[in-house]
Amino acid sequence: MTIWNRIEIIRGDITLMTADAIVNAANNSLLGGGGVDGAIHRAAGPALLSACRTLGGCATGEAKITRGYRLPAKWVIHTVGPVWRGGHKKEAYLLASAYRESLLLAREYELKSIAFPNISTGVYGFPKEMAAEIAIEEVSSYLKLNSLPEKVIFCIFDQENFDIYQEIFQRSE
Ligand code: ADP
Repeated sequence: MTIWNRIEIIRGDITLMTADAIVNAANNSLLGGGGVDGAIHRAAGPALLSACRTLGGCATGEAKITRGYRLPAKWVIHTVGPVWRGGHKKEAYLLASAYRESLLLAREYELKSIAFPNISTGVYGFPKEMAAEIAIEEVSSYLKLNSLPEKVIFCIFDQENFDIYQEIFQRSE
């Protein structure tokens, strides 16, 4: 049974996605930041920050969940990707872990669909090509073994990431 029909690539703003959960590329404090994190907090409204304050932060490579408040998505899974420090600080492992832990949380909540941004490839400086390989590998291995979530969406904001994902998908499918 192929898993490739359970993965979608969409170019756009993750705050507009109607998936059961969207994933936030947050920082360890979970108290908001720039990039996709800032956009999600702005769109969800102040109740999201109040919920995040109760979580006690999040370790790199782990994930926590809140409701989506004003977002179209019902849930937000907050995960923390690694800051790129040259490649010898377990960056690849921690990035894979951020994807995996988010998927496991989605499964625990019995969510059918989840949308990911390109974790760590903005301010955190993870090389985009390598990040995409890791993300797709982790998600596809997970889907082979699990029926939930049914659908995983890569919600891609920038053209460079979009081109990279399309190229990898054409090779993989
Ligand atoms: P990090 O600190 O994990 O690098 P950033 O938010 O700086 O997080 O960037 C992660 C990715 O999120 C980047 O590829 C960036 O293009 C993308 N991004 C920024 N805003 C949005 C948005 N509204 N929806 C989806 N992706 C976004």
